[in-house]
Amino acid sequence: MTIKFEVIKDSKKTKARLGKLFTHHGVIETPVFMPVGTQATVKAMTPRELEDLDIQIILSNSYHLFLRPGHNLIAQAGGLHKFMDWKGAILTDSGGFQVFSLEKLNKINDEGVSFNSHIDGSKHFVSPEKAMEVQMALGADIAMAFDECTPYPAGKYQVEIAAQRTFQWAKRCKEVHHGLNQSLFGIVQGGTFKDLRIENAKKLVELDFPGYAIGGLSVGEPKSLMYEILDCTVPWLPNNKPRYLMGVGAPQSILEGVTRGVDMFDCVLPTRNARNGSLFTSSGKLSITNAKYKDDFTPLDNKCKCYTCQNFTRAYLRHLYMSKEMLASTLGTIHNLYFMSFLMKSIRLALLEDRLLEFKEEFLSNFLN
Ligand SMILES: [Zn+2]
Repeated sequence: MTIKFEVIKDSKKTKARLGKLFTHHGVIETPVFMPVGTQATVKAMTPRELEDLDIQIILSNSYHLFLRPGHNLIAQAGGLHKFMDWKGAILTDSGGFQVFSLEKLNKINDEGVSFNSHIDGSKHFVSPEKAMEVQMALGADIAMAFDECTPYPAGKYQVEIAAQRTFQWAKRCKEVHHGLNQSLFGIVQGGTFKDLRIENAKKLVELDFPGYAIGGLSVGEPKSLMYEILDCTVPWLPNNKPRYLMGVGAPQSILEGVTRGVDMFDCVLPTRNARNGSLFTSSGKLSITNAKYKDDFTPLDNKCKCYTCQNFTRAYLRHLYMSKEMLASTLGTIHNLYFMSFLMKSIRLALLEDRLLEFKEEFLSNFLN
């Protein structure tokens, strides 16, 4: 089945909505946060642990899997779900963002992008058609159109060319994309220029994708500017299709995105932070390697019900991080993903009970950094 999206309830005071996204691998309740599993694994987690954290959908990176182990090998294994034994839904990105952010040696024209692998320097060329071939082979529930992501800051001319190219590439992606159990989302580009965003969104919506992403944000622009761009872009996207804000995962930004009508988010932040010892708590971020936690025998967050907080002390966690033990990453990631999962559940409950703004205010008044 291709995906189906249903808005269950609209927020009265904001643009937020409570929704359900039906996929071949389960029903996803939105707004949702998608942990990133770059190399067909959410680092330090087993799929069973992710299930226990009520993770409904993960994101995987086509670019990395294309280079290693190769999309054909994954197709041979029976697709990405089977290869990594993940029973929930998967979204794969198109590789556009990685090609533009990781590769210094990329050359771009209307046909596509040539670049050298960051692993072994080998030469590759990715076109919209190739990006579709890769994602269809991986077989995720949701695939993304191949786009050109511009950096911040960038001149208007450069951004306009990239936005036009993104639209032309979206058309080409749509022409070649086919998959019984896979839906293709379009990506709105246009940098921080409101007129370009609106024009790009309008043209993209005419192509009638089953969902739309807002790309090219959270690339270094001030947060306030990101919210302004969301304010001007979201109204041009259809109400009956899911909206996905790419690369955004800070709790504050998720709340701002949700109130502006975004349904899906992804970011490496919670998992990457966890591996670096930066852990979310109800009162803000905490750096567990700080010396003051050396003999702190209280839980990481006494309000948290995760496995880590229920069973281990700050002193023990700090010891694991200081000794660079593998368990540090696992326990830290379990906690940070539980925190995200719980935040999204709380947002959905607040939406259901018509108290999203009150929840947002309360959360932000406690979560101080
Ligand atoms: Zn916890």
